[in-house]
Amino acid sequence: MADPYDCIVIGAGHNGLVCGAYLARAGRSVLILEAADAPGGAAVTREFAPGFRCSAVAHLLHMLPSRIGAELQLERHGLSVARGIPSIALNRDQAPLALDAAGLATAGHEDAAAMRDYTAQLRRFAAVLYTALDAAPPRLGTGASRDHLALLKLGWQLRKLGRRDMRELLRIGGMNAYDLLEEHFRSDALKGALALDATLGTNFGPRSPGTVLTLLYRLACEGAAGGTAVVRGGMSGLSQALAASATAAGATLRLNAAVSGILVDSDRAVGVRLEDGEQIRARSVISNADPKTTFLDLLGARHLDTGFVRSVHHLRSRGLAAKLHLALNGAPAFTGLDAASLSGRLLIAPSMDHVERAYNHSKYGEFSDEPVIELTVPSVHDASLAPAGQHVLSAVVQYAPHTLKRGWDESSRVTFQDRIVGTIDRVAPGLRDRIVAAEMLTPADIERQFRISGGHWHHGELAFDQFFMVRPVPGAAQYSTPLAGLYLCGAGAHPGGGITGLPGRHAARRVIEENA
Ligand SMILES: Cc1cc2nc3c(=O)[nH]c(=O)nc-3n(C[C@H](O)[C@H](O)[C@H](O)COP(=O)(O)OP(=O)(O)OC[C@H]3O[C@@H](n4cnc5c(N)ncnc54)[C@H](O)[C@@H]3O)c2cc1C
Repeated sequence: MADPYDCIVIGAGHNGLVCGAYLARAGRSVLILEAADAPGGAAVTREFAPGFRCSAVAHLLHMLPSRIGAELQLERHGLSVARGIPSIALNRDQAPLALDAAGLATAGHEDAAAMRDYTAQLRRFAAVLYTALDAAPPRLGTGASRDHLALLKLGWQLRKLGRRDMRELLRIGGMNAYDLLEEHFRSDALKGALALDATLGTNFGPRSPGTVLTLLYRLACEGAAGGTAVVRGGMSGLSQALAASATAAGATLRLNAAVSGILVDSDRAVGVRLEDGEQIRARSVISNADPKTTFLDLLGARHLDTGFVRSVHHLRSRGLAAKLHLALNGAPAFTGLDAASLSGRLLIAPSMDHVERAYNHSKYGEFSDEPVIELTVPSVHDASLAPAGQHVLSAVVQYAPHTLKRGWDESSRVTFQDRIVGTIDRVAPGLRDRIVAAEMLTPADIERQFRISGGHWHHGELAFDQFFMVRPVPGAAQYSTPLAGLYLCGAGAHPGGGITGLPGRHAARRVIEENA
């Protein structure tokens, strides 16, 4: 048998690629095994109709810290992005609303001053949270100086806020987004759009506890990323650059290489078995697959304690975000929106009550009557995504339960797609007539096509009981797992999902520290 690799990474999602790249740069021999025929996982571009391509799942790059981009030299490896994408709320009865303090001030909006103060305050709080996101979470009660230091650093960042801010952060930290936004703003349109930011990718409505945390999580990563960008060529542009960075550092990437099991010898992970039976050995195995897939399918419960297996079973990971891609025979025309603003991130969430009502359906296994939507027109940034003069529209849509009570059959799919198109058509009259092809992915489709258990945005709900020192579950919260030699590096690990690269980067550091 060949010499073992230092590290095998299961999965070339963006986190697997980030992890592989950092490990290779640290001199480790690295093999990245990806089941799909392209790298990127949920960060890929696909053709969904002849001549029409777009990002298949994630479509906006707003959470990848610029430090990771610089360290991995992503632009040198081909990444090209359009930066400074504005967020704009669309509303059937009102003019489009730019969602930043300057835009609101220019429009003479009643909430302009409140937005300035709110943004400044939340950015300060988000910066403190980012201290916790930007490192492996400390372990409690270990006596290790590394864990004490991490806690001290977080405490110091909190202390630096000053008494008034510190008190306010502690007050709002566990609140829901609805109450927070009610305290600050008057405009329903503004509150609705900001509530969507707090709930995108979660199993929450604006009134759910913990939605200030999810809002701050988003803002913290956006702060480190330096704003919102669209990747030219779609998300594969990012993933190809990450793959190029990893292979330039010496990693080997194998596509169409699905792992069927993790090899265990003397209570240690020693390699992997591929679906075709090939076995490959390594000193460390790092999984970019979600925690349920990793522990229950690839490793198997027999290698784990019953209590640990139970907590993995209990991990909440059923997604509620769907994706709709439309091929259009011309540019969509949104009421009141000038052509330049088509390059923006457009939100349809007219009020907080609207978002909450849309969420209510999902509690009972139903999709929303009037879904809430985040959409982009990526062909505005890159004409090669559609035939000349034509366009693609990419929409993240909530709420679509992974497990629909009536089942995701042809009829429920047609009804839901029709509701989404109807919702967009109300702010872009005539859109329906421009559609030449469409693709809808429910969380169940995302689960199947991208191997993400539950099709969940974060590989596991981002909630207080699945966050920070207990993410994804106690016993596997610092990238290492109960099985020696096995690590996690995907969105299910700290700090969570979104295209952040943080779990990948932190996991690489942990592997290097433990295998110096
Ligand atoms: C509808 C939707 C829209 C989203 N939009 C955005 C957005 O606009 N911006 C944003 O920042 N985030 C967005 N997200 C979240 C983001 O897509 C994910 O959090 C992120 O892609 C997770 O990355 P990852 O590398 O951890 O995992 P993944 O992207 O899931 O990658 C895991 C990889 O492991 C591979 N794998 C799994 N099992 C095996 C196996 N047995 N053998 C070999 N390979 C295997 C998979 O094929 C995959 O390539 C969205 C999510 C959803 C669901």
